[in-house]
Amino acid sequence: MLSGAGPCASRFGEPITLNQRISTMTETQCVYCHPQQETVLWQDDRCRVLLVEGSNFTGWCRVVWNQHHAELSELSEDDGNHIMAVTREVERVIREQMHPVKMNLASLGTALPHLHWHLIPRYTDDSHFPEPIWVPPLQDAVRHPLPENFSETMTARLKRRFPRAPEGEHRLFVIMGVSGSGKSALSQQLSQRYGIACLDGDYLHSRENIAKMASGAALDDADRAPWLKALSDAAWAMQRTNPCSLVVCSALKKRYRDILRAGNPGLRFLFLDGRYEVIEQRLKARKGHYFRPEMLDSQFAALERPGASETDVIAIDIEQSLEDVVTHCATHLFD
Ligand SMILES: [Zn+2]
Repeated sequence: MLSGAGPCASRFGEPITLNQRISTMTETQCVYCHPQQETVLWQDDRCRVLLVEGSNFTGWCRVVWNQHHAELSELSEDDGNHIMAVTREVERVIREQMHPVKMNLASLGTALPHLHWHLIPRYTDDSHFPEPIWVPPLQDAVRHPLPENFSETMTARLKRRFPRAPEGEHRLFVIMGVSGSGKSALSQQLSQRYGIACLDGDYLHSRENIAKMASGAALDDADRAPWLKALSDAAWAMQRTNPCSLVVCSALKKRYRDILRAGNPGLRFLFLDGRYEVIEQRLKARKGHYFRPEMLDSQFAALERPGASETDVIAIDIEQSLEDVVTHCATHLFD
């Protein structure tokens, strides 16, 4: 999801900003647009992670925004969250690999209009400790060697954390499961983290269906059929233009799943699977939620667990942390 001006592009019709002045000055020599030599550990279409070499501070990494945006608050909410999520993961890997006494994070960048974060592992015996590394050294440095496979580990971790769909193949998933299995929380996490298009099936209910449910009556299959057909059509429309799309729908019965499948070859289901007791416990812990735990009985009674013949269903064990569920699902979204 690219945003803003292209590399080294000038932006007309807007007030002149510091970034633009820097941009104009550096269009021909911007080393982030035209790198002479850099060690890229990982990249996507928004940012990249570099290993800073030739310094006393081994393990120093830099997360560089690819476009000309110098300030974090210039980025869209989604882009800003993305560079910070990448930065956080880089920090995590450096800490795990190098065990510094402290990480230094700095976004300086007064010379070039690319927002970038330095991540520097610090040790009590480094040349500057406890001062920042930008001042003259205080003492002779003890060099901490870069662990073997540091670069490979960083690359693998970032690839896993920020997977990308194969080009040209549009993917479509239904997140299914009983009420309380965590469909909404999961879809929100996947959508925010990976920029995936997401539709909550509840939004496509007709006024009549909503009125019926509000009166306390349950929907029957005749009520559900046009809703599921509308959802199937919406899913089809989503996958036309999005590399990866999610639809949230409990899809408890096979005949409901079959309506969603019709006309959507390649559609797959992520079935959030968990024991009654576990979901009941989670529902009881939810505050301010209208769902009554007694309704869980009817949800489990209605659930037709996907059989072996439904090979497009991927069961996801929800009896693990949301973070682990998200990571597990992401491997299926992008494998
Ligand atoms: Zn540039």
